[in-house]
Amino acid sequence: MRISDRLATLVSDGDGWGVFYKARALVAEGVAVTELTIGEHDIPTHPRILEEMHRAARGGHTGYAAVPGTDALRDKVAAHVTERSGVPTGRGNVLITPGGQSGLFAAHMLACAPGDRGLFIDPYYATYPGTIRAAGALPVPVAARAEDGFQPDPARIAAAAAGATSLLINTPNNPTGILYDRDRLQGLVDLTRTRGLWLISDEVYDTMVWEGRHLSPRALPGARDHTLVVGSMSKSHAMTGSRIGWVIGPEPAISALIDLATHTTYGVPGYIQDAALFALDEGAWLEEEIAAPFRRRRDLAAGIFAGCPVVQSAPAQGAMYLMLDIRRTGLSGLGFAEALLDRHRIAVMPGESFGRAAAGHVRVALTVEDAALARALDVLLRFAEDLCREAAE
Ligand code: PMP
Repeated sequence: MRISDRLATLVSDGDGWGVFYKARALVAEGVAVTELTIGEHDIPTHPRILEEMHRAARGGHTGYAAVPGTDALRDKVAAHVTERSGVPTGRGNVLITPGGQSGLFAAHMLACAPGDRGLFIDPYYATYPGTIRAAGALPVPVAARAEDGFQPDPARIAAAAAGATSLLINTPNNPTGILYDRDRLQGLVDLTRTRGLWLISDEVYDTMVWEGRHLSPRALPGARDHTLVVGSMSKSHAMTGSRIGWVIGPEPAISALIDLATHTTYGVPGYIQDAALFALDEGAWLEEEIAAPFRRRRDLAAGIFAGCPVVQSAPAQGAMYLMLDIRRTGLSGLGFAEALLDRHRIAVMPGESFGRAAAGHVRVALTVEDAALARALDVLLRFAEDLCREAAE
């Protein structure tokens, strides 16, 4: 039997996922590995959220839920987005989705017809090219260079825009930990508006901001009519397994996405939505409690790499990651990550697994407890210094 090209091409593009799988295989064999690979909290969902989920399920919210999301959750998300971004947002601007990933797919289904070009910024989150392909479009990466602090460059994007119908961006950024600054974002809003592109803004790390404040491009002048925001409670509320998120956009776009949801997900379980509503009603303290360990570990790591000539960290302004430039060791990100795993049983992601623009870097997820993280980063640094010394000899 033939598998359609649409599915057969859904492989991740980056090199270097071998390191992740090798680390997982070692752990399965009982080898102790410090895994600093994927973005998953080292804590479970808060017990009060789970209690609410249980209460809702026992209370009978187990049948089909309204496809666009329950009125109560859509209203809550609308109020939340209005309060955080300052952009008036109502129920008709909100579609509840099973997680951010599903929102990314839906947004591209809306923006791209088969054969259109879907732009995205490299370095990128692993699923981006496949998500664009799944919508039938051609994924086109545009580099945000290390030399520019991994900020996207509107001029480069403009040069790639012919035939494109969408631009996907992500701030706070995975994998770099960078926040896009206001001028760049305004440049991207203006560019996408004048070229007739949808701007798809992945904001799943919006509560994990260590410097300044999260800025949604939807809040900038001229953005509202062509911007789709993808949100999620995976990172903000440690609810990765509950699969709950949303897309925010103009009403006609949301109504088209509701039609898509009717033919794909058919909504999100009601008891998960009730738990999400409860969690959002709790307000900022819960988000802050969940973000706090990442802020602390980011500070701890900044102390370790401060002024270090061998390994340089991109400014970690948000999200759960550190992007380390290890080019002075003479190794590629992949070579460095493989050697670090082989010799020291520490697993990090090669920059190359997130595209070409992060070559010569490794991404460290700040997802283990502080002392173990500090130990692993010390070992990583000493390893890099030794490699540097050897290279100089
Ligand atoms: N976007 C980015 C940048 C991510 O890092 C992730 C998850 N790691 C997602 C979207 C998807 O998250 P979820 O589907 O769990 O909401």
